[in-house]
Amino acid sequence: MRLVLLGPPGAGKGTQAATMVEKYNIVHISTGDLLRAAVKAGTKLGLEAKGYMESGQLVPDSLILGLMEERIQQEDCQEGFLLDGFPRTPAQADALDEMLTKLGQKLDAVVNIEVPLDKLMVRLTGRRVCKTCGATYHVSFNPSPKGDLCGNCGAELIQRADDTEETVKNRLDVYEQQTAPLIDYYTKAGIIKNINGDQDIKKVLEDISIALGGKE
Ligand code: ADP
Ligand code: ADP
Ligand code: ZN
Repeated sequence: MRLVLLGPPGAGKGTQAATMVEKYNIVHISTGDLLRAAVKAGTKLGLEAKGYMESGQLVPDSLILGLMEERIQQEDCQEGFLLDGFPRTPAQADALDEMLTKLGQKLDAVVNIEVPLDKLMVRLTGRRVCKTCGATYHVSFNPSPKGDLCGNCGAELIQRADDTEETVKNRLDVYEQQTAPLIDYYTKAGIIKNINGDQDIKKVLEDISIALGGKE
């Protein structure tokens, strides 16, 4: 299965992806995670991307498109993939279409997680992520069973550099202007599945499973 997860920052894409990849036996490809790893490792890509990410702007396509074209051709993507955070603009969606056409592949569905914009600030400023395994928590909505430590691996939980109030505001504006048009784009393509993301994490997963044709 080849899927795209769409939705504003904080919609729950990463949270749902973590369980969906096991259920559907596909790889989770998060451009945000790839970019943060590059920043941490201090690679050329990371150095170029850092400033954009810290201010909440999109990283230029010249940095993203080649990276994705390479990634989706790797061996582990044979059974399918779940793209999270890409595409983020209609131009990136066109580029993805071209990449897939070249490979003789196509998207099966775009899962659009809908959450009212006024709920996203509290989700993002309360988000905590594991330094080591990347697991995602929320201080109130999805706390770790081990408090300040990761429930999976016991490592320290941290706050992302761009989960501050000011940067979140920019990211939400960028979403409205550059990413939201993709809802129309994929509605026209006839492959969008709109999911109510403003409900319990487990219920969101159930609705996604039903929308993708499973029982739940
Ligand atoms: P995204 O990848 O779309 O930016 P995340 O999956 O990281 O979003 O979720 C953002 C924050 O909201 C995290 O702190 C997460 O624990 C929390 N969260 C995710 N889904 C829900 C939900 N259905 N209800 C409440 N909080 C949620
Ligand atoms: P979110 O939790 O907001 O969905 P991500 O982890 O997907 O955040 O992205 C974090 C940052 O990485 C973005 O604000 C942007 O700077 C950069 N980024 C991630 N994916 C892309 C992309 N497809 N195109 C451009 N920039 C991207
Ligand atoms: Zn962990």
